[in-house]
Order: sequence, then structure tokens, then C-alpha cells
Amino acid sequence: MREITTSWGRVTHAEHEVLRPSNREAPLPVAAGISRYLPRGAGRSYGDVGLNADGALWDMAALDRFIGFDDVTGVVRCEAGMRLAALLAIAVPRRWFPPVTPGTKEVTLGGAVANDVHGKNHHVAGTFGRHVRRFALARADGERMVCAPDENPELFAATIGGLGLTGAIIWIELQLRRIPGPWLEVETIPFGSLGEFFALSRASDASHEHTVAWIDAMTPGAPGVFSRANHVPGEDGRIRARGLRLCATAPFNLVRRPALHAFHAAVRARHARRRTARRHYDGFFYPLDGLADWNRLYGPAGFFQYQCALPASAGPEAARAVLDEVARSGECCALGVLKMFGDLPSPGLLSFPMAGPTLALDFPNCGARSQALFDRLDSIVRAAGGRLYPAKDARMAGDFFRQSYPGWRELARRADPAISSNFWRRTTEGAQG
Ligand SMILES: Cc1cc2nc3c(=O)[nH]c(=O)nc-3n(C[C@H](O)[C@H](O)[C@H](O)COP(=O)(O)OP(=O)(O)OC[C@H]3O[C@@H](n4cnc5c(N)ncnc54)[C@H](O)[C@@H]3O)c2cc1C
Repeated sequence: MREITTSWGRVTHAEHEVLRPSNREAPLPVAAGISRYLPRGAGRSYGDVGLNADGALWDMAALDRFIGFDDVTGVVRCEAGMRLAALLAIAVPRRWFPPVTPGTKEVTLGGAVANDVHGKNHHVAGTFGRHVRRFALARADGERMVCAPDENPELFAATIGGLGLTGAIIWIELQLRRIPGPWLEVETIPFGSLGEFFALSRASDASHEHTVAWIDAMTPGAPGVFSRANHVPGEDGRIRARGLRLCATAPFNLVRRPALHAFHAAVRARHARRRTARRHYDGFFYPLDGLADWNRLYGPAGFFQYQCALPASAGPEAARAVLDEVARSGECCALGVLKMFGDLPSPGLLSFPMAGPTLALDFPNCGARSQALFDRLDSIVRAAGGRLYPAKDARMAGDFFRQSYPGWRELARRADPAISSNFWRRTTEGAQG
């Protein structure tokens, strides 16, 4: 069936033939006249890694079953279209938790592998791919193989962070992490400068599993609130009832400057003092899931997330330069998140994190003005030896991608020749060969 698919940022969309595999033993479906395919998870990537204009998508949503769960070791095997939300519902009552989780539970396990996602515990757990024991990979020509560190190791590495290009992951075996209960003890600490953020981060790395900061990137100096948390024992609580849903796209961008200033001021006032509280994992890890389809708030033009990783050596100065540039630009930055990545290596070829700070900044799409700001930010990130996150990107220049992800050539060699994406063509077309 032909459908128009929109990325999470709603800036890019494409028309595809959508094919829906539902039997994990069967070959992947193909369609007459279609020469390029791409697996699709839950569509939570902001840019165009999940789009494949004029080709087909394998929508993996129907492959969402549990295959096995060892309650004693915490090893789980699930089909790759399963969402983290479904895994959490089974695992948490048994006192297991995903080893790494992004800021939404509405991603599939296949999508989490293909972007090698990271969470607030990167400094102690690394990326998602470090906890994947094995998976089954299906290629468009019907070939199928199990990949693990000691079985088809090159494809194992190329598929972790491989942007779906090596084949469709059919099932995944994952090592979960023990937790004492669904609660976390969360300490929130206001800070007034980036220097304070870096000191807090250093002081918390050894004592806290989860660390992250919210920042007000529109205010010079980027004041913010640092959160650090550990899992603590406690009984199962009631999971937040299904949250609200934005039923339609706003007719225009509702995320505007005066409202944002008021919102940022309110957050800072609420966290004006250091505080410790017990929080349920659902509210701590997934606050944005409380409003389903919140991306529609930005209106028909959509929004961008600019997420960069900066190397530890140049990171603090470069992060400061990025944030100075944002504050000076006068552009609306609705959400700013700052975190220090650790140095645990990923088994993947194209993983985004590097030891040092990462900044994630949301901006409404204001056309040329937004692009001009991103170009200036790119110059700072490039000069510092940093890179942008493909899962969030809809616009980086091909040479920037290729320079900052030297593994791309090896990925191109391992990719399924029948698989492609808008992102891959945008960043590598003309450079292969
Ligand atoms: C609110 C929010 C918060 C987020 N927070 C974080 C965060 O903290 N950290 C982080 O790292 N990311 C974060 N993300 C990004 C998100 O985790 C990634 O984009 C993730 O990959 C999306 O998974 P998905 O299932 O939606 O996959 P999609 O977006 O549908 O696809 C992503 C990529 O995976 C490939 N893919 C999907 N399924 C398969 C499969 N079965 N086999 C092979 N390839 C496949 C696709 O081809 C595509 O290249 C966040 C996103 C949102 C919306």
C-alpha cells in the first residue's frame, strides 16, 4: 500500500510502498517494480534515517512478540518490532530493566539497535549495542543469518548503529539490567553556569547511574538543572494512566519566544533549590511520553533537533561556544539537554557517542534562519572534532557526515545492496565507489 510517511521532526516526508512482515520465519516481502527497501521501527527518528522516497518500507510493527525470557539471568529474546514500553511492562515487575533507554519508551528494539541509542547512564553502561548478545538479520534476497560478537562479527558490528542498511533485524537477544524496583531516588540541583555543570557531572559519575541536565539555552550562560539518580527498592506503583494525545497538528507553531521564556523561568523557579525525591521510572525517563504526538505542537513546518557530541578535550569550550551562539542568535530553543558521555566503546561501526559532552537542542523550523544558525553551529562542532547524531539529523552536509563517521565506508561495503534511505543517499551519494 502506498503511504506518505513523516519523520518525527515533521520537516521531511516521503511516499513509500509500505510492506508489513508479520511472520519471523518468512522471507521479507518485496514488491514488483521496487528496487530499494528500508526497515522502519516506530518512526521516532527526527530526520530522514527512516525515510526512503520512491522505495519501500518494511514496517516491523507486527513483529512484536516475546520469544523467550530467562527470569534468572535477565536475558530476553524478542522480535525487533517490539517497543520498549512492552518490554518494560513485562520486565519491571520481574525486577529487570532495559540496560539503556532513550528518552521515549515508544521506540522499537530494532530501531534502538540501528541507531545504537544512548541514555542517561552512558557513562556507566555505554550504548544499547553493548548489551545486545545476538540478533537475526534478514536480507532482501532472502538470506538470513544470526549475528553475534563471535558469529558473523562484521555484520554484527555494521548493524549496530547501521541505520537499517545491512538488513532487517528480525529478533534480538538482549541482556537486561537488575533493578530493585520501579523507583529512583532523584536529586535535582540548579546550576548557573556550564562550569558548575561540568563540576557536578564529574562529581556524580562514580556515585550515580543516571545523570543529565536540562538547560535554558536561550539565556546567556545556559543556566539549568542537573539531575542524578539511582534505582532504589520499592513496590510496584501505578503506571501513569494513558497520557494526553495531541489529535491534530497545530495550525501554526505554538512554540514561541514569550511562552518559552515563561516556561524556562517556571522550570528554574520550580527547581530553585537542591531537592531529593523518589520518582517512578516512567516519569523520570519518559516525561515527553505524557503527551503523545507532542511533535505536532510545532505546526505544519515541524522542528529540528540539533544534537552534537564533542570530544572531551575540546568539549567544554566548544559546548560553551555552541550555547553562546544559540543565545546570541535569538532563535527559540524549546528544549535543551546536556549530558557527559563516558568512554565505554560501542561494538558498532557508526555509533554516535564519544567521550565528552553532548548537547541536544530543539528548534522550530524557521526556514533559512534556522539553517543559518545550524551552519554556524556545524562550524564549531567540526572545528572541535565533534559530530551530529544521524537519528536526529535532517540536514547535515555529506562531507561532514563522512568526515566525522569514518566507518561509513565499511558500512557501505556491508550494506544490503537492495537497502537505502534518504539519509544515506543525502550524505554518501557520489562519494561511494
Ligand atoms: C522524545 C524522544 C526522545 C529521544 N531520546 C533519545 C535518547 O535519549 N537517546 C537516543 O539515542 N535517542 C533518542 N531518541 C531517538 C530515538 O531513540 C531513535 O531515533 C530510535 O532509533 C528510534 O527508534 P524507532 O523504533 O522509532 O526507529 P525508526 O525511527 O523507525 O528507525 C530508525 C532507524 O532504525 C532502522 N530500523 C528500525 N527498525 C529496524 C529493524 N528491525 N532492523 C533494522 N533496522 C531497523 C531504520 O531503518 C532507521 O534507520 C529520542 C526520540 C524521541 C522522539
